[in-house]
Amino acid sequence: MNEVSAEKRSSRCGYIALVGRPNVGKSTLLNHFLRQKISITSRKPQTTRHRILGVHTTEDTQYIYVDTPGLHRERRKTLNRLMNETVERVIHDVDVVFFIVERMTWTDEDELVLNALRTVDKPVLLLINKVDQIQDKKRLLPHIEVLSQKMSFAEIIPVSALKGHNLEVIDEIARKYLPEGQFLFPADQVTDRSARFLAAELIREKITRQLGDELPYEITVEIENFKDQGNVLRIDGLILVEKQGQKQILIGKDGSRLKLVGSEAREDMEKTFEKKVMLRLWVKVKSGWADNERALQSLGYTDYL
Ligand code: GDP
Ligand code: MG
Repeated sequence: MNEVSAEKRSSRCGYIALVGRPNVGKSTLLNHFLRQKISITSRKPQTTRHRILGVHTTEDTQYIYVDTPGLHRERRKTLNRLMNETVERVIHDVDVVFFIVERMTWTDEDELVLNALRTVDKPVLLLINKVDQIQDKKRLLPHIEVLSQKMSFAEIIPVSALKGHNLEVIDEIARKYLPEGQFLFPADQVTDRSARFLAAELIREKITRQLGDELPYEITVEIENFKDQGNVLRIDGLILVEKQGQKQILIGKDGSRLKLVGSEAREDMEKTFEKKVMLRLWVKVKSGWADNERALQSLGYTDYL
């Protein structure tokens, strides 16, 4: 055994923000970083400025991955402002930023993220994901060259979240940028409460992706049931909208939209929770019923998948 690696290193622990426009592969990457085993913490939302996505703990390092909510959820016209605000808020107390882009593409949205990141005084690691989709690998190098001109990245790392390519190096590279210190979370913590929270977020994300600007973002998703039945997780989600019209839009023709939301959310949940998931979704119009249990019962759950 190599003597250097046998030496005990001092522990490091820090926050890593994942940023990038939708669809670049943030969730897929996160699943890899967390080794599929989501260790969502039980920290209460008001005690942290971040939405903690998961914690990955090794012998000497604790990686706390946090989300940047405004980056992918809000409407396009306010995207720029929100992105700046969110990034500002988030980056002040993270230690490292992972900026994720995909293949050889560079879009306006990537540019928006980049602009927001310009104000960051933390190391920004650029991860170029989906390199498995680049046919001619020779073109990657000049592309990296171009990207490296955009701002001063601490590292540029081509990866494939899907194929697992080059991911093994990321832990070690990221570690260099984390401060020395004690772990902030127990090494292996999973709580049902935050799993519920995560499930609701996944559903909300799929709705937003399906509907874009068609729905205002005051959608509430409540997880009514979250039962581990051994070989299957049974999850019931209630989606609350403001108006009848929104409900129709969300359900779609013959329920097609809601089905899509449901199947996409379920796929993500199965990856995240590493278990078969039975997901049922309902849509309800918010006004008036929530305070009234009897009204709730009499509504009947008709729109489920
Ligand atoms: P997010 O919106 O940034 O969280 O992106 P997702 O993780 O949901 O990924 C969006 C899509 O890209 C999904 O269909 C993934 O399966 C796919 N994807 C993610 N990483 C890779 C990759 O490395 N290679 C390829 N070919 N597809 C990927
Ligand atoms: Mg995602």
